[in-house]
Amino acid sequence: MNENDISIIKNLLKELDETVDNGYGPFLAAIYDENYNLIAKERNSVVKSNLSLAHAEINTIKAAEEKLKTYNLAPYNLSIYVTSEPCIMCLGAIMWAGIKKIYYSAPSASVEKITGFYEGFKPNWIEEFEKRGIKVFPNIEKIEGEKILEKYVKLNGIIYKPEN
Ligand SMILES: [Zn+2]
Repeated sequence: MNENDISIIKNLLKELDETVDNGYGPFLAAIYDENYNLIAKERNSVVKSNLSLAHAEINTIKAAEEKLKTYNLAPYNLSIYVTSEPCIMCLGAIMWAGIKKIYYSAPSASVEKITGFYEGFKPNWIEEFEKRGIKVFPNIEKIEGEKILEKYVKLNGIIYKPEN
């Protein structure tokens, strides 16, 4: 991890903070190539699009694959940056897309504690991903990431869970 990676996360958090009240979920993701060219960046749009799959990571992977016209991102050596730790669904999607590195800010424990969103069961996932060649860089600018989640809750943002 270097200064570029940290500044990407900082910029995502800044953009999310400024737009947290616009009706989208409080999560933002971006995919960059190894030369730090932006490939795709999308918000969580579960509520807006009435689609449980529409997490920021899924929307961003979809946009990246459409842009590059491929279902396999592995040859492009891409990284995904997310404002919170990916949930159980998004981790599967990241692996299946062939993304090589994951950078995120707020961990799932914070997401669940602050917002009440459910993130799924992910035993030893960082270790399991690293065994499969996917590097994980957790908790970047964690406090800032948590503050935005707190702001979303204060603004009465919608919290959706599979059991409700
Ligand atoms: Zn997700």
